[in-house]
Amino acid sequence: MTKEQVLKKYFGYDKFRPLQAEIIETILAKQDCMVLMPTGGGKSICFQVPALVMEGITLVISPLIALMHDQVQSLQANGVPSAFLNSSLTSVEQRTIEEKCKSGELKLLYISPEKLFYNDYLNFIKTLTINQIAIDESHCVSTWGHDFRPEYTKLNILKETFPEIPVVALTATADRVTRKDILTQLGVPDAKVFISSFDRPNLTLSVLPGRNRLKILQQFISKRPNQSGIIYCLSRKNTEDVAEGLRKLGITAMHYHAGVDSKTRSEVQDAFIKDEIQVIVATIAFGMGIDKSNVRFVIHYSLPSNVESYYQEIGRAGRDGMKSDTLLFYSFGDIITRKEMIQNSELPDDMKEVQLAKLDRMKQYAESEICRRRILLSYFNEEAQNDCGNCDVCQNPPKKFDATIFAQKALSAIARTEEKVAMGLLIDVLRGSQNRSIYDRGYQTLKTFGVGKELKYEEWADYITQLLNSGIIDIAYDERHSLKLNAISWQVLKGEKKVDLVRFEAYEAKKARLDEE
Ligand code: ADP
Ligand code: ZN
Repeated sequence: MTKEQVLKKYFGYDKFRPLQAEIIETILAKQDCMVLMPTGGGKSICFQVPALVMEGITLVISPLIALMHDQVQSLQANGVPSAFLNSSLTSVEQRTIEEKCKSGELKLLYISPEKLFYNDYLNFIKTLTINQIAIDESHCVSTWGHDFRPEYTKLNILKETFPEIPVVALTATADRVTRKDILTQLGVPDAKVFISSFDRPNLTLSVLPGRNRLKILQQFISKRPNQSGIIYCLSRKNTEDVAEGLRKLGITAMHYHAGVDSKTRSEVQDAFIKDEIQVIVATIAFGMGIDKSNVRFVIHYSLPSNVESYYQEIGRAGRDGMKSDTLLFYSFGDIITRKEMIQNSELPDDMKEVQLAKLDRMKQYAESEICRRRILLSYFNEEAQNDCGNCDVCQNPPKKFDATIFAQKALSAIARTEEKVAMGLLIDVLRGSQNRSIYDRGYQTLKTFGVGKELKYEEWADYITQLLNSGIIDIAYDERHSLKLNAISWQVLKGEKKVDLVRFEAYEAKKARLDEE
């Protein structure tokens, strides 16, 4: 069967979405590839269709038992012979599946990495006719990703074992550094990368200071009667308190977190899907694999830990393409809590650093006074030349001043230091600071040394951050956070593009504006 026939016969669709056909062709040509698509973008079809076109069986590595279960169930419902192997099966069930693999009856086998590496299970896999290896949620292999799983790091063994078999790495969230790392870790550095747009123009984006949250929620929700929404909270206790607070205000709200027993959880979920409950107040445990297309709003009661998680969570609103609203509460207190959570975690030090850097990007998003969608898109390395008009910053723009000269100074200092320095040292160069790092590198002789004396350290830090967030400067986290120039940087340097920035606001003033009373 051709790929078009498979799409029609098993999935009932007439046309591929953008990129799906190219990705499938690449796999059929036995080339490795990486698929980056937002949640709901249609990643699964990209490996499921080739699995059915080719002879043999496709191995799908997936970290979550629940997701595996859902995918296999819907494949089976479509008449695709498939099964999963993970720790939840009895040995009799496992034996039956193994027989079906051997007889060539199955087309897709989902397996957890734990299972794959337990007891040399790979030896069994080697006896099968594998035609493709799909690695779902592949950001889990990277410590740069937001959901690192140690057992994923051994997956490079797959390419070593099956050098001729195409590997397909799929993920909904990966910035450029994570992306590069995933491919290195999987042993497929030359994989072809396919990125579909992360833009979700039907979602409005707003941020409010973390004051009077419950009261604002009441106003927000009462303006949207009969519309479904999700509120994400930091802790289980939080979800219970907020849900109760809302119920007292007459809103049908239920909490949901991993500590609730599974029967109640599925009842709450069902009631939400059937629109019997208006609002779910949840920890991040809620949302994976939930298919509700008419969620009209997603609210973050406190700051998420990173931009990837935030993006994924707001992405659960408006899956039907209709206008939907998102709202994020932000206070300095949230940052402190998040930092403590990272510091007190069991993570090794270098990973704590990655988490802190990611938290910092989230903070920058929340504090930003430039178009928020631009920040999101530039985070995922999509070029955004224009403001979106559909976020709170665009609708209520802060006063800006012409900062082209400042931008040019910073950019030319980046060029003169050969794109090798991080923000701190760059500011020292701009301000002409006399210190050891400067002398060690001989930066005191640069033409740009001291050209930015007129600004304080904090002011430069603020302006450079704004430049980063608007995509005028790039940053390489995997090269010790060194700042890099891109195409837009050069337009600014050549005087072809003007730069407007928001005037620096001192820490104390900002804190007073943002924090709980
Ligand atoms: P992801 O894994 O990227 O989150 P899925 O693969 O689950 O997304 O796809 C999301 C939805 O889009 C599913 O309901 C799927 O059946 C549908 N879909 C995928 N590809 C197509 C297509 N070519 N035409 C129509 N619907 C599609
Ligand atoms: Zn905007």
